[in-house]
Amino acid sequence: MAESLKEVQHVCPLLLPADTKRLSYSGFIRVKDKSFYLKISLPDDGDVHYAKIDCDWQLRNYLSKHQAVLKKKLLLARDLPSFLIDFKMLLNQIMSLQAQPLPPPNYYSRLISEIEEIGWNRLSHIDTKFQDIQITLNDTGGRVHVLSIHLPYKYPIEPPVCNAVLPLAFQPNWSSSTTLADIVRQFEKVILEYQRFWDVLDELDKKTWVLDPSSPSLSSTYRRIVIRSHLSLQVTIDPLHPQLMPECTPLGPTEEVKVIKDRLYSRGQQCWNTRCSVLENLQNILSVNFPSPISTKEEDYIMECGICYTHRHYENGRAPDFTCDNKQCSQPYHVSCLYEWLTSLTSTRKSFGFLFGECLYCNEAISVKLMVPSVE
Ligand SMILES: [Zn+2]
Ligand SMILES: [Zn+2]
Repeated sequence: MAESLKEVQHVCPLLLPADTKRLSYSGFIRVKDKSFYLKISLPDDGDVHYAKIDCDWQLRNYLSKHQAVLKKKLLLARDLPSFLIDFKMLLNQIMSLQAQPLPPPNYYSRLISEIEEIGWNRLSHIDTKFQDIQITLNDTGGRVHVLSIHLPYKYPIEPPVCNAVLPLAFQPNWSSSTTLADIVRQFEKVILEYQRFWDVLDELDKKTWVLDPSSPSLSSTYRRIVIRSHLSLQVTIDPLHPQLMPECTPLGPTEEVKVIKDRLYSRGQQCWNTRCSVLENLQNILSVNFPSPISTKEEDYIMECGICYTHRHYENGRAPDFTCDNKQCSQPYHVSCLYEWLTSLTSTRKSFGFLFGECLYCNEAISVKLMVPSVE
């Protein structure tokens, strides 16, 4: 106990034993040149894990949002001195976090005049610190966009950080004389430039069955569309050149995928007509009519994976993207489920970057790429 007292006083010289058994200490703890009243009471067996802490209102204020961390530190403490070291470090961190400097007065006056230039009515959100603002805009296609702007305390010495849901990151040109209204104008120009890109995707969303992504955002550049049951085409549109032939990846049984690939390869670039829509071009080149939501039912294309028994993969949200080549079987799987399943089996062979195994339902040979491709 005597040794412990020396150690306690080494960490907190102003914390003194309050009883003869040294189960209670009271006094002051000093952090960042500030002293706080503190009383620590240990249970009869001296176990620090169940110590009770009383303190002054200032210290209580600092700790109010960090009770869980404090409890954890108590439970992990080896003894009272080691807890006090941890406690001082925690308090130091909390105080540093709360001691952010206030922006200079001209920060607010400049910000208010800049918001007036944009128009308060266009602001959909502003936080109490006047640091985070959101502006809502409608584009010519009727889509709603939200531009989030975070202003550092040193604005306009430091640039604002802009965020928006776009296919490519929004990085406005900025100098210290750039106003928020300039940024909004740059954003309007950018969304105008993406109109054709979104129109292409809108047409696919309206006129075909889209398997992936399940609820596409304005940043999504691809759609996996149904060609027929068990066969789909993943189309990735270039946001800057949406009228050009997109990157196309057919998914389904090997034989059918080969037919689609051959048509894309032999007729793709030659027959692509930029005066027609992407959907019309794809239908012409592939000689298919993509099933339309007007004349077909979604249930016809919702497949369950043979491993996880769900349509949407629990992690990446994708619909099954692999089909067993045996025409009598045609069992759909998620590539990631199949990959996980095959890697767990000792009988699986690995070669040339592929995993080789058997279909769980018909024992037909199947193979998946060693690295699971991730989309977005
Ligand atoms: Zn699955
Ligand atoms: Zn099979």
